[in-house]
Amino acid sequence: MARRRIIPIFVPNWGCPNDCVFCDQKRISGSPLPASGADVARALEAVKARGWSGLELAFYGGSFTAVSPALQAELLEAAQPWLADGTVASIRLSTRPDAVDPEGLAMLKGYGVTTVELGAQSMDDGVLTASGRGHTAADTVRAAGLVKKAGLRLILQMMTGLPGSDRDKDVETARHLIGLAPDGVRIYPTVIVRNTPLEDMWRAGTYREHTVADAVAVCADILPMFEAAGIPVIRLGLNPTDELSAGGAVAGAYHPALGELVRSEILRRQAAALLRDVPPGSHVTLGVAPARVSAMIGQHRRNIASLREEFGLADLAVKATETAGQGVSLVDVRP
Ligand code: SF4
Repeated sequence: MARRRIIPIFVPNWGCPNDCVFCDQKRISGSPLPASGADVARALEAVKARGWSGLELAFYGGSFTAVSPALQAELLEAAQPWLADGTVASIRLSTRPDAVDPEGLAMLKGYGVTTVELGAQSMDDGVLTASGRGHTAADTVRAAGLVKKAGLRLILQMMTGLPGSDRDKDVETARHLIGLAPDGVRIYPTVIVRNTPLEDMWRAGTYREHTVADAVAVCADILPMFEAAGIPVIRLGLNPTDELSAGGAVAGAYHPALGELVRSEILRRQAAALLRDVPPGSHVTLGVAPARVSAMIGQHRRNIASLREEFGLADLAVKATETAGQGVSLVDVRP
């Protein structure tokens, strides 16, 4: 299915009563905020002038349903002419699990909202508390049910490597989210953003950094779980921005190609399972679909080097094959 062009409207920290330790919304969104219906209208006029249509209007960043109903209505009202003429085909927004109720969802639906994204982040209450989230896992279960009952598409966001979490708890969160049967998930490994409480915790030694390697390891566990359940992972890792790349991300799992690293690790694990019975000293050729050859080889040939070393292979080649499907196959093994 072709990707729909998205018009992002950022609502940093609007209506948010919280202070999540990892959050500096303005820095993460990487954009100043349009703050009124007039700004929404201006953004849509600009895209209409380019002749685009069938767009998705996306309110990102803040807690949309926690702002006053009058302000929600103003923003959504501004989009109505463009919804009516087909410039906008769908509207999505993100919010907190404890800021969702049936009346509010009915209002959103009436304005043509199609998708609600809930920031679940973790399904472990200890992790949620340590991260300053201010809601519980039960809030997420309740909100997810309400969104689905309202006939809206449900997207769940989770984070890995939050304070108090570990690999097992992150995997457990993924399992819980799968049980809520969302239409898609976003996975955001924790990044330590400058001027956040998390930066203070990290500098004080009370939070251990979730490194890129940590994130790759746990995401390589959970990505296949979502895929096996038929739940699309529509984003893995924060969208790179100039500000984060220029030092706004002081530590943690910030990498512009995190998704690619995770896919590469998944293929490395599959290859390792195939190589287990191959005698040391062998010359081996692995097969993968053409689009996966570079992920199988890995950045800087990392997978080749680590597999050769782990299994004592004389050499290891990767070949594009049409028959390998999503996985890895053993094409040739010679002494
Ligand atoms: S709920 Fe947390 S992450 Fe979301 S805007 Fe508020 S402080 Fe930031």
